[in-house]
Amino acid sequence: MARLTSESIERTRAAADIVEVVSAHTELRRRGGRWVGLCPFHDERTASFSVDPSSGLYYCFGCQAGGDVFKFLREKEGLEFRETVEQLADRYGVELSYESADPDEEERRKSRQRLYELLSKTAEFYSRYLWDSDEARGARAYLEGRGLDSDVLRDFGIGYAPSAWDRVLTSALRSGFSEEELAASGLAQKGRRGGYYDRFRARIMFPLRDARGRARGFGARAVRDGQQPKYVNSPESSVYHKGSSLFGIDRARTHATKAGEVVVVEGYTDVLALHQAGFQNVVACMGTALTEEQVAELARLARVVLLAFDADRSGTEAMLRVQRAAAGRQLELKVIPLTDDKDPSDLLQADGADAFAALMEKQISFLEFQVRTVIDSADLSSPAGKDRALAELSPVFEPAPPSAEREEQLRLVASRLDLSEHLLAPLLSRSPAAPRSRRPIGAGVVAHGERWERVFLAMCISNSEHGRDYLSRLTDDHLSSDVLRRARKWLAEHFDAPTVGLTHDDEQLAQAVSEIVVRASGQPADEHALEVDFLRLERRRLERVIKQAGEAEEFERQHELSLRRNEMTEAIARLMGEADLQRARGGAASLDSIRQESDA
Ligand SMILES: [Zn+2]
Repeated sequence: MARLTSESIERTRAAADIVEVVSAHTELRRRGGRWVGLCPFHDERTASFSVDPSSGLYYCFGCQAGGDVFKFLREKEGLEFRETVEQLADRYGVELSYESADPDEEERRKSRQRLYELLSKTAEFYSRYLWDSDEARGARAYLEGRGLDSDVLRDFGIGYAPSAWDRVLTSALRSGFSEEELAASGLAQKGRRGGYYDRFRARIMFPLRDARGRARGFGARAVRDGQQPKYVNSPESSVYHKGSSLFGIDRARTHATKAGEVVVVEGYTDVLALHQAGFQNVVACMGTALTEEQVAELARLARVVLLAFDADRSGTEAMLRVQRAAAGRQLELKVIPLTDDKDPSDLLQADGADAFAALMEKQISFLEFQVRTVIDSADLSSPAGKDRALAELSPVFEPAPPSAEREEQLRLVASRLDLSEHLLAPLLSRSPAAPRSRRPIGAGVVAHGERWERVFLAMCISNSEHGRDYLSRLTDDHLSSDVLRRARKWLAEHFDAPTVGLTHDDEQLAQAVSEIVVRASGQPADEHALEVDFLRLERRRLERVIKQAGEAEEFERQHELSLRRNEMTEAIARLMGEADLQRARGGAASLDSIRQESDA
C-alpha cells in the first residue's frame, strides 16, 4: 500500500480542528487557552480531560490517555491510522499525497480508487431505481412487509437491481468505465460468448460498506418466486473480501465505540430493523460464523461483543465458533438469547422495540451460553448421558479463569446433573490458568519523582525565552525513566513545534510528549520557577550520586557531594523566598498552579 507522505499527514493534522473532533464525544468548555471536559476514555464526574487546540493535542490527567487528533479517532472510532488521516483529509479538504516509490503500487491504488467510484455510483443508481421504478414495486412491498421505513432504507442506501441484462453495464460504460473495470468490481461478468453482462438482476441490493462508508461490494437478495439462489454476494475482488465485511459497520461505528459494545446479528434486515428501533450499534456478519478478520474489526470498535444469532442449531454452532476466532483477543463475548426461532427483525415486528430491549437485558456470558448449550442437548436421564455431558463441559470450564461467574455455572451444572459440587469441581477444573491481565498503555500510577520531571519538561516547553536553555542543561542523569530521556531529547530538538513529526512508531514517546505539551499549555512558567525546579532536579540527581558514593565506600567524595547538596538547598530556599515575594507583588508564578493540577 502506498504510504502517505509525512508532509501530507502534517497538513491534515494542522487542518483538522481537534476541538470539533473531540466535541463529538464529550462536551468541552473553554478554560484559558485550553478546552476541558469529562474524559471520553474513562468514567469520571469531574473534568480532567483537556484539549489544547494550539498544539493539537489532548490529555487526560485522570487516566493518562493522550495524543493527537489521529490517535483520538483511532481509539474512539476504531479506525486505522491511515483511515483516520484519509477521513480527516476528506472532512477538512486536504489533498493527500502518497509516496510513489513503487509505480506499480501507485497504479494499483489508482485502479482501486476507480473501483470505489464505480461501486459508489452504482449504489446510488440501485437506490434511485428502488424508489423510482415500477419494476421495484415487489421489492418495496417486501421491505415494507418487513416493517422497514423508507428513512432507514435510504440511510443505508438499500437499492434494487433492474432485471435487464445490461443496465449497469451500459450506464457505467457511458460514464467512462471500462468492461474490465466492471468485471473487476464484480458488477459485471463475462458470458460464454465473451460479452459482459450485469451480475445482479432483479434483486434487492444491500451495499457492503467499510468502516469509512465506502461501498466495496453488494449483497443481493432475490425477490421473485423461484429465483435462485436466494442470496448472491459480490465476488472477491481487490476491494471486497467477504471474510472481512460487516454490514452496517459504517453506521454502527460511532455508536458502538460510544457504548463500548457492539451487537452482531445474522441478517441485513435485522440490522435495518434494529437501527430503525433505535439500536444503532448493530452489524451483521452475513455468514455462518464470524471470521478472524471480522472479529478483529469488531475488536477495534468495542470491548464487548454481543452475539444475537438465531436460536437454531446453525446459529448456535456459529456462535460457538466465534470463540475460536476471538481467542487471544481482549474481547468479552456475550450472548443475547433469542428464542422461538424469531430473528431480531421478526421480534421487533411482532413485539416492538421493548421486547428486544428486554432481551438485551437478559444477555448472558459466553460461559453460561456454552453450559446451557451442552446441558440443553444432553440426555440427563442416564449415567452415560451425564458422563457425555461432563466430557463436553470439561473443555468449556478448563480455560475459564476463576470467577464468581465460573462458580455460579459450576453450581448450575451440579444441580442439573444431580452431582455434589465438590465431586464436580475437580472433574471440570484442572487448575485453570490465571488470566493474563494486560494493563492499558499509560494506565497506572506514574511514580512521584517521574511526575516531577514531567512537570519540569512542561515548564521548559511553556517558556519560549528560557525553556530551551534549561532543556539543554538537563541531562539524562536528571531523569528517572527512559521514555522521559527520549522525550527530553525530542523536545530539545523540536522545541518550537514539539508535536510536528511525532509518529506512532514510538507510542510511549508520543504519549509522553502529548502530556507534556498539554500540561505546558496551561500557563507559562516564569524563569524563577524554572530555576527553582531545575535546582530541585539537580539536588535529586546529587542525592542519587551521594548514595552511590556511599555504596562504593567513597566516603570523602560522599562528603564533598553532601556539601554541594546543602548549598543547593540553601539556593533553592533563597529563590523560593524571591518567588514568594514576587507572587505577593502579583507577578506570574505559575509553577505551583501547574504542579497543583498535576497532583490533583
Ligand atoms: Zn481519562
